Amino acid sequence: MDKKVIEVKNLTYKFDDFVALDKINFDVGKGDIVAIIGPNGSGKSTLLKCIIGMNKPTDGSVKIFGKNPRQVVKNIGYVPQNFEFDRNIPITVYEFMGLEKCGELKHSHSNIKNVLKDVGLSNVEQKKLGELSGGQFQRVMIARALLHEKKLLIFDEPSSGIDIVGEQTIYDLIEEINLDRGTTCLIVSHELNIVNKYANKVICLNKKMICFGSPESVITPANLKKLYGIGAGLYHSH
Ligand code: ADP
Ligand code: MG
Repeated sequence: MDKKVIEVKNLTYKFDDFVALDKINFDVGKGDIVAIIGPNGSGKSTLLKCIIGMNKPTDGSVKIFGKNPRQVVKNIGYVPQNFEFDRNIPITVYEFMGLEKCGELKHSHSNIKNVLKDVGLSNVEQKKLGELSGGQFQRVMIARALLHEKKLLIFDEPSSGIDIVGEQTIYDLIEEINLDRGTTCLIVSHELNIVNKYANKVICLNKKMICFGSPESVITPANLKKLYGIGAGLYHSH
């Protein structure tokens, strides 16, 4: 059996003539926690959208579990960078949780309640989605991914808009899901300390892949200088 969860081969993505991603290659294995780092505009969100099949590669290919991403989209939990929705939308957390596969037994009330409890949210099922804080909403998204038993979780800057304690909670949760269920996680992050702590692989992206490997081998002053320019590298923890 092929253990590769994500295979990216020679991936190029263009917006008209503008090259956003240039010949990217990497593999992600089952159970990896992979962080993507790079400056603003380096193509991180674009890469995630190619991986979930929302962007069709201009050239090269992306395979998830050996298949076209669109064929396995049900197995992927994706939390976008800016999830905008109308705050007046009349939907409760409970309804939002059960939106997929409605009516199946495992989406019973008690299951939804339990999974929300697992992510540290109690008594919010009857709240309107628009009443949640940013951190609570992200946890609901994680709870949804748990409920629907996603095999690959993709987070685009999960901590943006959350305070430092909330951020730690989100990453602890990601780590717990990874350990308990062997869920593969791909996370865009700016926090190098967090990347060092939680990821087992790091991708440095700036349109091209600058480097890819363990945090120890990748988060070095020389690589960070190459990636961000002069002055980065303050966070190296070794
Ligand atoms: P990051 O997530 O690393 O900040 P993005 O993937 O959002 O970067 O964007 C990469 C580049 O592609 C940026 O220069 C951005 O301006 C450009 N870009 C992103 N989305 C679009 C779009 N829909 N149309 C044209 N250019 C885009
Ligand atoms: Mg982005």
